[in-house]
Formats: sequence, structure tokens, C-alpha cells
Amino acid sequence: MIKINQLKLPVGHSQKDLEDKIRKTLRIPSKETFHYEVMRRSLDARKKPSLFYVYCIYVTIRQENSIVKKLHQPSVSFVTETGYRFSEMGHERLNRRPVIVGAGPCGLFAAWQLTLAGYAPLILERGKQVEDRSADVERFWETGILQPDSNVQFGEGGAGTFSDGKLNTVVKDPSGRNRYVLETFVKFGAPSDILYDAKPHIGTDILAKVIKNMRDYLIKHGAEFRFQTCLKDIQIKENALHALVTEDDTVIPADVAILALGHSARDTFTMLHRHQLPMEAKNFAVGFRVEHPQQMIDDVMYGNGKRNALRLPAAPYKVTSNFPNGRGVYSFCMCPGGYVVNASSMKEKTCVNGMSYSGRSGKNANSAIIVSVSPADYGAQDPLDGMHFQETLEHKTYQLGNGKIPQQLFGDYRQNIASQGYGDFNSQTKGQTCFANLRGLMTEDMEHSFLLGMEHFSNIIPQFDRSDAILSGMETRTSSPVRIMRDTNGESRVHGIYPGGEGAGYAGGIMSAAMDGLRLADDVMKRYHPVY
Ligand code: FAD
Repeated sequence: MIKINQLKLPVGHSQKDLEDKIRKTLRIPSKETFHYEVMRRSLDARKKPSLFYVYCIYVTIRQENSIVKKLHQPSVSFVTETGYRFSEMGHERLNRRPVIVGAGPCGLFAAWQLTLAGYAPLILERGKQVEDRSADVERFWETGILQPDSNVQFGEGGAGTFSDGKLNTVVKDPSGRNRYVLETFVKFGAPSDILYDAKPHIGTDILAKVIKNMRDYLIKHGAEFRFQTCLKDIQIKENALHALVTEDDTVIPADVAILALGHSARDTFTMLHRHQLPMEAKNFAVGFRVEHPQQMIDDVMYGNGKRNALRLPAAPYKVTSNFPNGRGVYSFCMCPGGYVVNASSMKEKTCVNGMSYSGRSGKNANSAIIVSVSPADYGAQDPLDGMHFQETLEHKTYQLGNGKIPQQLFGDYRQNIASQGYGDFNSQTKGQTCFANLRGLMTEDMEHSFLLGMEHFSNIIPQFDRSDAILSGMETRTSSPVRIMRDTNGESRVHGIYPGGEGAGYAGGIMSAAMDGLRLADDVMKRYHPVY
């Protein structure tokens, strides 16, 4: 195959324009036929008002080698694409099927690989299956009544189910796992443009359907799911996993368990710490969800009126800054055309996040603007101190909003007074809200950094610090506050335990968690032969 990088065409071009450009780039005679596949497409808005798509294309044609040699262009090369392959099975015998704890992206993709390879895994998930979970989440947003095991963090599909469904990752991917995950999503109902879009997203509506379809397939092919089944304890004998104990005291003998717990399984982290599974506190970040009108963001990112004129999607943005006090302030999990959601999973603890539907047609853009936190902020004597710090912030937020999401306009935050109403635009929120003064939730140093960050970002996106930008408190679950140590074979110090995904500190997002799930399944496969 021939790979063409950096092939540039104006936004609004036709398919013929693309084919002509490929032909011209490779100097293909008009009578010669060729096949091509778009591998990646990104939008280049650096030369506004002109907007371009930049492509990476794979071309299949006769005499590929000689075409590449003749051209001598750095943007044209010869590639052999092998795709993701499972490893050969190992020789150690498993006496029992592998168990996967958690049905988020990490657990589901570990289950996917192990099922296809014939290991018939058992998946334990504390929450409900996605259809029932969705009903609980809607009820929580309407009434404020929280189900501690069925909410935005817990249940089939994991934390990203009620999300923007962004499917990009910065993780390097020499093994082809990234594309394999995307192809699997497409197989189960995601649109095929996620395979090449540089910023793929599917929205919560499509994601929930994909997860259900994936589960049905896995069950048909030998996997077993047990929902509303929380791992409560583990039994260890001679430094090896012996059994898993669930909330109803069922003992499940096990040789191998992949722990794909997510970043919110605080009770499970505590239990693992009690068993002295090696873990350490990890840096993370906290802050507020900040809303702006989507049109303001579109006009800045694309140029005035261009979004509608060129039928472009709601524009994303990303902003970062570092300050002399050592803190980073940056945007996180930006949701174009999205909603701020109450993402709490514990009684009397409030946290927020963002989500969108596939159309990203909401009126507001929202993003977490977060300030970095390190063990220096919470005096980490214990690996779980960062987690306790998150809990304290969430409890203060709960008290401030009396269970509702406390909100404040940025101008009022600057002046340290509670807001009385919205400005030129209203909040787009899933969950009950109230006005409050969010000052005092973070330390003074963190507040100072947040204020500096907002001001700094207005140099990049004018009016980012507008007085009626809406802040919602607090965004605390940006990543896991702990790392559960594992060796190069994916195993914890306790033989048979494979910690992975976001909760164990090896991923940050749907894609990287899914890829880590595949990696751990591969680690298990390389060592063990399935039980037949
Ligand atoms: P999780 O998805 O958290 O899954 C862990 C699972 O384990 C959960 O289902 C939980 O119920 C279960 N579990 C925990 N403890 C136990 C136990 N003791 N017994 C049994 N089961 C247990 N990322 C993106 O890439 N793009 C986005 O657009 C995006 N938006 C987000 C929006 C929201 C509202 C949230 C909350 C997160 C978002 N994220 C997004 C982050 C993303 O969801 C996570 O990075 C990803 O889900 C992590 O995957 P995971 O499998 O490691 O853990």
C-alpha cells in the first residue's frame, strides 16, 4: 500500500476533488485504476478564513514500489499494514475461567479478546446493564435520588457511557490496538467516520447501543455477565489470588482476575490497600465545568458564521497553561454542543462532568477547566490520601448545593459573591442546579491559578473569561488518584491479579482504557491456556 500524508483540500471539496488530488500526487495516468481508503482526516483552521481538511490516505495500485521510488516525496511512502493480532496462547493451565471486574471500556475489551480467543471469561459488574442504568441516571437527574451502584460512574459501559463519547487518544499505538477498538465499535453500530476522523466522537446515545450490542455478542460466544455484583473482597493464598468474594458473600474461586475498576471505586481501592496490594498516590487535577455559548466558540475556531456556511460540526477547543507556582491549568474533556451532568456516585458527595449526544446540537460548549493537584497539596502519607482529598472536595460541594449542582457566573466568582441568575445565556445541565458562591471550595493557591488560567485563555479564545461564563462545581474525577502497581507482564505483586484501565492509573479516557483492556487480555493469553 502507498501512504500519502498531509494531503490538503479546502473544506467543502467533492469526492472527485480528493480522487483527482490523489492521482496528481502519485502521478497516476488517467487510464490506471486505484483503490484508496481515508485513514485520517483533520481540520486545519490555522489560516482563517480559509479552512482545509488534511488527509492521510492509503492507496492500493499496481507497481506501488516503483511509484514511491520515482516520486521521492517525504509525504509519500510504502506501508505494510498488519493490524492488531492476538498473541499466541501460553502453556500454563488455567483451572478456572478468567474473571474481569468492571464492565467499562477496559473490562469490556479485555472480555472481548478473551471471549474471541475461547477463554469464556466471567464479568462482574457492580452496576446494572445499560438499559436499566440509563433509567436510574435519568431519575437521579430529575429527582436527585442517587443509586450508589447505578449512576454516571457505575454500571455497564463504565464511566464514559453518559459522555461526549470522544474516541481520541494520545497513546502511541504501534500494535494497532487503537484502530482495532474503533473497528469493534463500528462493528456494533458506531458510524464508520470514527475510523478516520482525527477527533472521533459518537455521543452517549450511540455509545449505549454499541455497548448493548457488544454484550449480546459476547454472551452468545461464551462470556458470562453478572450485573449488580460488586467485588467486596479477595482471598489470597501464598501470594496468589485464590478467590473473589462478592457483596452477597458468594465466593468465586479464581486463578486470574483483571481489575478494571475505573477511578471511582473507592471502596474497592480501600479493600485492595487493606490487602497490601502495592499502590501509590498519583497526580491529578480538579476544577469547575465552564460553559460558554457554542456559537462563540464556533466563531473563534472557524471564523464568524463559517460553521453554518460550511456545515461544520460544533467546534472543539483545547487550552493549557503553566504558571510559576508550578500548577498547570488546562481544559479537559471538552464537550461541544454538550451538557453539564451531575456525575456523582456517592451519597452526600457531588461532582460534575460533561456529555453530549451524537449530533452535538446543544446550545453550549462546556469543558472542565482544571488545576493540577499533587501529593504536596494533601500531604500524602498514604496512597489513598489523594482519594480522600477528592472526597472532601465533593462533600463540601454537596453541602454548598444541598445536593444540587452549585453554579456561579465567572464575574461573581472573581468578585467572591454568590450569583443570583444567568447572564446572556442559560446553563445546559442534566441534574438539578442552584446558585452559590464557589469560592472557598479550592485552596487559595488553586483559586488563584484558576483565575489566572481563565484570564490567560481569553488571549487564545476572546471572551473566554466573560463575566457570564457559567461555572459548575466541582470536577474532581478527572483521573484516578491512585496507581495500582503492576509488572511488565501486567501482573500485580499478588500473582493472578491484573490491574488495568483508568482506575489503576494506566489510562485516561475511553480509548486508552479499552486498549489497556486488550493489553491485559493479551498478557493473560501469553501465559495461560484456557480451560476447555
Ligand atoms: P470505568 O469506565 O470507570 O469502568 C469501571 C467499571 O467497574 C464501572 O462500570 C464500575 O461500575 C465497575 N466497578 C467498580 N468497582 C467494582 C467492583 N468492586 N465490583 C464490580 N464492578 C466494579 N473519556 C473519553 O475518552 N471521552 C469522553 O468523551 C469522556 N467523557 C466522559 C464523561 C463522563 C460523564 C465521565 C464520567 C467520564 C468521561 N470520560 C470520557 C472518561 C472515561 O469514561 C473513562 O476514562 C473510561 O470509562 C475509563 O474506563 P475503565 O474501563 O478504566 O473504567
